[in-house]
Amino acid sequence: MDELALLVAADRRALNYTRSLPSRRVFPDAEAIDGLKRFDEPLPLNGHSAEQTLALLDEVGSPGTTASNGADYFGFVIGASLPVASAAERLMIAWDQCASGWDNSPVSATLERQAARWLLEILDLPAESAVGFGTSATACTLSCLATARRELLKRQGWDVDQDGLTGAPEIRVVVSALAHITVIKALRVLGFGLRHLLIAPVNDRGQVDVERLPELNERTILCLQAGEVNSGEFDDFEQLIPPAKASGSWVHVDGAFGLWARASSLNVLTSGIEQADSWTTDAHKWLNTPYDCAMAICRHAAALSATLRGDAVYSAAAEDAQKNLTMEFSRRPRGIPVWAALRTLGSKGVAEMVERHCRLASRVAEGLSSSGYRVLNRVVLNQVLFRADDEQQTLRICDAVQASGETWFGATQWQGKSALRISVSSWRTQDANIERLLALLDRVKQSDLAE
Ligand SMILES: *Cc1c(COP(=O)(O)O)cnc(C)c1O
Repeated sequence: MDELALLVAADRRALNYTRSLPSRRVFPDAEAIDGLKRFDEPLPLNGHSAEQTLALLDEVGSPGTTASNGADYFGFVIGASLPVASAAERLMIAWDQCASGWDNSPVSATLERQAARWLLEILDLPAESAVGFGTSATACTLSCLATARRELLKRQGWDVDQDGLTGAPEIRVVVSALAHITVIKALRVLGFGLRHLLIAPVNDRGQVDVERLPELNERTILCLQAGEVNSGEFDDFEQLIPPAKASGSWVHVDGAFGLWARASSLNVLTSGIEQADSWTTDAHKWLNTPYDCAMAICRHAAALSATLRGDAVYSAAAEDAQKNLTMEFSRRPRGIPVWAALRTLGSKGVAEMVERHCRLASRVAEGLSSSGYRVLNRVVLNQVLFRADDEQQTLRICDAVQASGETWFGATQWQGKSALRISVSSWRTQDANIERLLALLDRVKQSDLAE
């Protein structure tokens, strides 16, 4: 089969998959999972045909997917892919650009600059900020925290690039007790030492307790969050950031999904966030672009660029070349799906999507309460945290829901006990999906009580 015929075949299979999303189980059944054993074959000496490889991928692989690109998936904050973001991604794959800088791909450099400008505008963050389009919030947080440390050390007269960390002034990290595990991972990988982190206690809602914040100074990085993964709560930026800045601290905000509230009428949740030094957010979650797509945003553009500089003798580039703002040197122009999503939705479309998800989450909370569940959070955003009557029933309900194949969400821990967590973040999810979810949860609870 020639190249074009193969790509047409792949497109046809991809279209069939997309078409099948509404009727697909949300999590694969045992048979489909068992079928994945067919991938366990020896590395061929003489390769198989491309056509056969594609067929195997589709016939065995497609049934083994999680339908997180559908309307009925409520696990984590996964989002789906907007049609235009998927479409732009398809074209981008055909282009196969190495988007390190202008020299490699003028179109990528142009579009990622444009996406960065729009992003700062829609998130209402300082226009002078640099935006690195990285693989994930994890990688972008790592970039921002490395920049924070380098910059604070520089202000202390220490050149970490040349002299490293041995003998350097100590940089302290104050981090929310409910910081996402990937923030902790970034800190650990950067060598801050888990034992040395200063944990900021949180209140009952999961927000950093302003009264009990550890002391801050010019050698401190303060990590806050917009959108806690369980409760969806936001730290009180208006109370926390100005004194932190006055002390000389660097403030970083993890807004992997929550930062998008700023693009909607829920923006009051983020008041004061613009005063931070750096922010992380994902596009592959709430903006509904395909994976991997996230942003490191830094008010001090030159500092991010100096920290991540990847110029070589054979390839110098502008300060805002993406290879100087991300971990990668060779990279896909992952800002292009962001550009496509923003251009197609417009700021109004983004606001409408975010607001609809939050409204649907409130409806979930209301329905759950009527079915006798206990909702544990305020539902300020798109996250609903809840429990059944006791620990055992909560876990049984989780199992029953997952086994149904009609939807998928998972269990978590909240204040020491199991809880269930529903995130509404797919552009496809509408009122009818929520009513079906609630009917299922009601059925499952009633039949559990009957047994
Ligand atoms: C998902 C998430 C992350 C990590 O994002 P990735 O893109 O998966 O690396 C960080 N913080 C919060 C609050 C998240 O929800």
